[in-house]
Amino acid sequence: MQDCDIAVIGAGPAGLSFARLLAGSGLSVVLVERAPEAALAEPAFDGREIALTHHSQEILDEIGAWDRIPKEQMAPLKRARVQDGASPFVLDFAPPGETPLGMLVPNHLIRKALFDSVQAEGCATLIAGVAVTAVRTAPRGGTLTLADGREIRARLIVAADTRMSEARRQMGIAARMRDFGKSMLVARVAHEKPHDGIATEWFGRGQTVAMLPLRGDVSSIVLTLSAREIADLMEVTPEAFGADVTRRTDARWGALTLAGTRHAYPLVTTYAMRFVGTRFALIGDAAVGMHPVTAHGFNFGLAGAQRLAEQVRAALARRRDIADPGGLLRYEMAHRRATFPLYAATNTIASLYTDDRAPARALRGAVLRLGAALSPVRRLVTAQLMEATPAR
Ligand SMILES: Cc1cc2nc3c(=O)[nH]c(=O)nc-3n(C[C@H](O)[C@H](O)[C@H](O)COP(=O)(O)OP(=O)(O)OC[C@H]3O[C@@H](n4cnc5c(N)ncnc54)[C@H](O)[C@@H]3O)c2cc1C
Repeated sequence: MQDCDIAVIGAGPAGLSFARLLAGSGLSVVLVERAPEAALAEPAFDGREIALTHHSQEILDEIGAWDRIPKEQMAPLKRARVQDGASPFVLDFAPPGETPLGMLVPNHLIRKALFDSVQAEGCATLIAGVAVTAVRTAPRGGTLTLADGREIRARLIVAADTRMSEARRQMGIAARMRDFGKSMLVARVAHEKPHDGIATEWFGRGQTVAMLPLRGDVSSIVLTLSAREIADLMEVTPEAFGADVTRRTDARWGALTLAGTRHAYPLVTTYAMRFVGTRFALIGDAAVGMHPVTAHGFNFGLAGAQRLAEQVRAALARRRDIADPGGLLRYEMAHRRATFPLYAATNTIASLYTDDRAPARALRGAVLRLGAALSPVRRLVTAQLMEATPAR
């Protein structure tokens, strides 16, 4: 049996950020991660290129992670465009000045930077290579049971164990789940024509394609198709893959060539019905598992970790219990207010744009025309992306 103040399940980006945000608080934090330590210290490329908002960059900077990410691996996202098939109407998101909309950073480098920052700060004890198998909490404390039989007792348990969170289920917290019945394939591709720093999201018949601009004439292609089609594309030769995606993109960027490994993810979104319980809180994807189309999953995860850490620090400052139900509830309310509108809107947009029935096609054409005509709406979305510190 090991005692600590806070036990965190999962050392993914959300769990690591939360532990690092508590550095200097004097609290003892234990991070339990089922993956081995080597996979945290040197995470493998996983295909995800994370579009970080200005607010996320600010938090990563504050916790000493931003400067650990090699600048030559970051790519500025100058503009974003949404297109519907061959329609001439384009929804264009452009920043008012020279500052880019956001910064594209490979997920594995964010994970590495956060891990290194936690290690350098010595702000958490890491138990890696062993999964949490049971979570129990009571008004006087919580206990984690690990796969090797060890037990960890804590005043507050925080679950950051992915969108299919086992801890959430064990705590009896339900979640809205939306299975889109599709999968996503992400891979880097080199192309003949420049992307000019513009991200393109393109809804075609039976497919959605996003091209995220990286350094040089390279983009990250994100394809949304049926699970069977994605499985086939994971298997074909690199040459056949290049030919396939060149055809799917109508050669707009010229010929595409596979420039790395391919990664597939099922398209399931989740939203927990509660974010807190007795001496328990959910953060990251375990609380809000976004559809990647609006690129907000980790941005929300980081903002949520910051909100919860603030409540813990506020309780400490007032000499109150760090798992004070009032503080946990304030975290839940603030995080729900900040995330639910975009979660719901993203699911609606994603459903509309992946539905190839005629009424949906007509409606999305109208939505795009309307969006193109309403520049205040575009300005609002752009401002939201660029705002450094959103309202708490
Ligand atoms: C293709 C794609 C593109 C994306 N693009 C963007 C983007 O542009 N912008 C953005 O903000 N977000 C994006 N996201 C979302 C982002 O990747 C996630 O929101 C983020 O990784 C979630 O972090 P997390 O720490 O909550 O969960 P995870 O990264 O899933 O980490 C959870 C950790 O918990 C561990 N774990 C699980 N169960 C246990 C257990 N029982 N015991 C111990 N450890 C456990 C796991 O091993 C893992 O290390 C994208 C996602 C995908 C799939």
